[in-house]
Amino acid sequence: MTRVAIIGGGISGLSAAYALEKERAKGTPVEYRLYESSPRLGGALYSEILEGCVVEAGPDSFISEKPWAAALCRELGIGDQLIGSNDEDRKTWIVSGKRLIPLPDGLMFLVPTKILPTAFSPLFSWGTKFRMAKELLHPPRPMNEDESVAAFIERHFGREMVDRLADPMLSGIYGGDTDRLSVRATLGRFAEMEEKYGSLSRAMLVANKKMKSVMAGKPKPPLFTSLRNGMQQMVDTLVSRLTPEWLILNTKVDSIQKHRDEYSVMFAGRETEVFDAIILATPANIAGRLLADIDRGLASDLQQVPYSSSVTATLIYDMADLRSLPGGHGFLVPRSEGRRMRACTFVHNKFPHRAPPDKGILRCFLGGANDEAILQLSDEEMFAIVQRELREIIGLTAQPRIQRLYRWRGAMAQYPPGHLDRVDRIEKAAALVPGLAIAGNAFRGIGVPDCVRTGTVAATTVLGLPSPASPIKR
Ligand SMILES: Cc1cc2nc3c(=O)[nH]c(=O)nc-3n(C[C@H](O)[C@H](O)[C@H](O)COP(=O)(O)OP(=O)(O)OC[C@H]3O[C@@H](n4cnc5c(N)ncnc54)[C@H](O)[C@@H]3O)c2cc1C
Repeated sequence: MTRVAIIGGGISGLSAAYALEKERAKGTPVEYRLYESSPRLGGALYSEILEGCVVEAGPDSFISEKPWAAALCRELGIGDQLIGSNDEDRKTWIVSGKRLIPLPDGLMFLVPTKILPTAFSPLFSWGTKFRMAKELLHPPRPMNEDESVAAFIERHFGREMVDRLADPMLSGIYGGDTDRLSVRATLGRFAEMEEKYGSLSRAMLVANKKMKSVMAGKPKPPLFTSLRNGMQQMVDTLVSRLTPEWLILNTKVDSIQKHRDEYSVMFAGRETEVFDAIILATPANIAGRLLADIDRGLASDLQQVPYSSSVTATLIYDMADLRSLPGGHGFLVPRSEGRRMRACTFVHNKFPHRAPPDKGILRCFLGGANDEAILQLSDEEMFAIVQRELREIIGLTAQPRIQRLYRWRGAMAQYPPGHLDRVDRIEKAAALVPGLAIAGNAFRGIGVPDCVRTGTVAATTVLGLPSPASPIKR
């Protein structure tokens, strides 16, 4: 019998436990215990239903292009609960002073592919528009040294593009700062495009053409996928497939030691347990601390993965009070605007299934790598900031019916330049420690799909099985 300890009960740890359950069902002799320090499972995934509205505390969806989370939901029998984002009304606004300016049509992520809408957009100065036109002549460049996203985008489109677009967009995904995020780890496709085509705009046009011919006649998949009743539905369904007495809450793992082929897992106020294998599904810095006595180099690399903190504030309004709100999925706030709010999602537009017709939901993001200090504020102070900035940006003066605030301290891994080299070292070192696997958002993808993938692969690794075939692959 192989005994496995899973440390951390977020989506990565739960995915690992589910993969082990499946192996057990096939007759593999394996047992596991999942230890979670908090009183609940799911980690960053947590949803509440308030006045008929689905309120997401952490992730509200996952990117459809990465198949692993949706595949898991289908396997769990909740495929019929998957919903897509309302891409017909996918406009995103950028805050500029007291104005909301729409992202110009044809902008694919950060890359302009249509001349006229970009040329007439008030979002960019004429200098930047000229840079965009000139970018079509950008020569190919080999992908040697990693660099920051800011440096990369600035080389192609100029600094204004970094400030107006790249920074707010990546701040929404990573809670990070483009000056400190690796282009190879976060925009690897762009780095490859530069190597092959030079110009990102030309490369995007080619990719777009290919995509159109592949997708001809097929319905366009939604950009984001979620679950009808919130991401919690995924957690609850996963948990229902696990062995309840093996899920141990309110139990923080303090340290781990390895003696020959066995691991001793130690806790405060609880007896040491012995296992054959360990899956670490905590944030990487905690995994590093737990491995300090087992492999110093590996522990140090893990501990050096930086994390940022953030806060989400959800406000539920009577729809009648939001009449002046524009359409679209929400707005992003460039740092140069000097505000604390980084972004706001119009949830009732992005996922109309999540609010009854007479309610509207605004979800605001604060914090991130450049504003860790926000966590020092009280809830009242944060709500006051959110309401003041909503008043100043979109003229919203009505009081919300309900407001909720969720603090996420050190929850978002940051991928600085050189990150992929560090991940290579971590993967190589971990592979040399028998019975050890590490999962989570600190490696090759921060989103829920990558956490599902790493958790699943970790389970097969500790059992010495080959990694699962598609769709659970890197
Ligand atoms: C506000 C926010 C919004 C996000 N939005 C999106 C989004 O829209 N789409 C998307 O795809 N991703 C999004 N993400 C990212 C995604 O949610 C996370 O990367 C993912 O949920 C991380 O899962 P995890 O299981 O690896 O880690 P976690 O969820 O952090 O779980 C780790 C668990 O380990 C436990 N733990 C820690 N130390 C110990 C210990 N010593 N002993 C026992 N247990 C321990 C913790 O309590 C925690 O429950 C968002 C994240 C945040 C915070």
